[in-house]
Amino acid sequence: MPFSRSDLRKCRRVVIKIGTSVLFENGGLSRNRLKVLSRQAAALKQDGREVLLVSSGAVGVGRLKLGLADRPKTLLLKQACAAVGQAFLMTAWEKALADEGLLAAQVLISADDLADRARFLNARNTLRTLLAHGVVPVINENDTVAVEELKVGDNDTLGALACALVEGDLFINLTDQAGLYQADPRRDPAAALISQVDKVTPEILAQAGGGGPLGTGGMFTKVRAAKRLADLGVASLVADGRSRDILRRLLDGQEAGTFFKPRPGKALAGKKNWLAFASRPRGRLVVDAGCALALTKRGKSLLPGGLKEVAGQFSAGSTVEVADEQGRVLALGLSNYGSDEAEKIRGRRSQEIAGLLGYCPAEEIIHRDNLVLAEGLV
Ligand code: GLU
Repeated sequence: MPFSRSDLRKCRRVVIKIGTSVLFENGGLSRNRLKVLSRQAAALKQDGREVLLVSSGAVGVGRLKLGLADRPKTLLLKQACAAVGQAFLMTAWEKALADEGLLAAQVLISADDLADRARFLNARNTLRTLLAHGVVPVINENDTVAVEELKVGDNDTLGALACALVEGDLFINLTDQAGLYQADPRRDPAAALISQVDKVTPEILAQAGGGGPLGTGGMFTKVRAAKRLADLGVASLVADGRSRDILRRLLDGQEAGTFFKPRPGKALAGKKNWLAFASRPRGRLVVDAGCALALTKRGKSLLPGGLKEVAGQFSAGSTVEVADEQGRVLALGLSNYGSDEAEKIRGRRSQEIAGLLGYCPAEEIIHRDNLVLAEGLV
């Protein structure tokens, strides 16, 4: 049975991202919004669900505290704002959740933490332990330490990543718009709200441009986050976080916001989920046409015989891209061999590996179990 809105009732582990535009009112952090959202989070927990929050707002609050008239432009100033604002934001969440009888935990994540499989698993275990103790994790990016290239960059992406990390059932992205519109409602007031997206096409993604004045997301990153989760088999919603009782209404399956249907079938779990989402490729393996077909159509592993070219320096166990000779990325996978070893066994038969290297830890360069096809990866 395909997943529909009424199935939202069954979602147990729910990741809720709250944008700066939802938390701010009249130019400042709104205690009332935090209170209302904490109350709704408490109601979800009462229903037996697990709730994780991904809260933006650190940079926005820090900017106000530092008395800056404009959005910080340099990375250093953004980091300074985040450092000031995060403490303040977290204190506000802690209080608001405590008023509803909930214990909050601050969890700061950077992309780099999650690109490493061991650290990814450690973060997952920490979050699971918090959930097992009934705690509500309040997640944000570790803005003060992450330089640009190590950053996730926006909390829509971070929220989806967090949802993949904990193998959540549902991602709810709360913003200051009712959902995804046919056209930008700020420019075209007659634009219609899209209630359901069955599949995020490149056109839908391209159409979702723009960004708000305070946060960093805009609709593009929201739709991209929803697409990535849909590809993993996880449902998501984009909705107005200021709208009354929004979380309960969404989880009741009522019409509100935009519902992004997950890909049919079981959600991509475990290592594949990490590969598709959080890992970072360290190199590239170019394969011939026969190997490309075997990987994409026949569910086979990548054997040295089909390998044409090894690019980049990487060690055994690294994530690598697999591409065809036309340069199209076909898959991401964990290489059993480092780049120097892969170069030595390139184009040879698996039986020759031991002779060529003096050892043979695996017959395949990438085992099927450690490979995800690029179809759907954005
Ligand atoms: N981490 C940023 C903050 O707390 C938010 C980034 C975003 O909203 O996309 O201000």
